Amino acid sequence: MIAPRCTRLAPAERGGPIDERGLTRLRIGARERVRSVLAAVPLPRPWSMNAWVDGLETWRGREIDLVPIEYRPGQPSGAWQARPDYDLIAYVEHTSALHQDHIIAHELAHMLCAHTGTCQMSESEAAQLAPDLAPRALSHLLTRVTSGADEYEAELIAVLLMSAATSEPPAVQPGASGRAADQARRLAALLG
Ligand SMILES: [Zn+2]
Repeated sequence: MIAPRCTRLAPAERGGPIDERGLTRLRIGARERVRSVLAAVPLPRPWSMNAWVDGLETWRGREIDLVPIEYRPGQPSGAWQARPDYDLIAYVEHTSALHQDHIIAHELAHMLCAHTGTCQMSESEAAQLAPDLAPRALSHLLTRVTSGADEYEAELIAVLLMSAATSEPPAVQPGASGRAADQARRLAALLG
């Protein structure tokens, strides 16, 4: 069991509210980053986070270990650590498959952006933002929050990735059942 912690900036080093120009830069930068990553490592169809992470490993020439962790109140829902020889991404396992994928996508975004510092995304924040956040809702959320830019860059990239990953009906496996499938259908409807 690996405690969710990471090697990025301490909370005190985070920036204040993101201004309008900062938001515009973040949005443009996030879209460009997602475009270039997806050009190098296309999303698998049907969608599979494990298969996409395999592609990222080959592309970057560096292993990524996905480690499920138990949720503890007050702890982050995910974490990324850059180890000397590989990247480690921890994610809470007792949630829907789609929510797990969103947490992993958020941590992958920190990794791809080479952010430093501790992920500020708590379980309750992640539950509010994921998995059924429509991209058009994001600008509203971004303008009324007051955390540093890294979290929102990571969350924006995660939303863009997961929107792309779940944007087509074949991304939902036929016969999938339970909460994850319901959430995927709801997300697809929101994005429709
Ligand atoms: Zn984060």
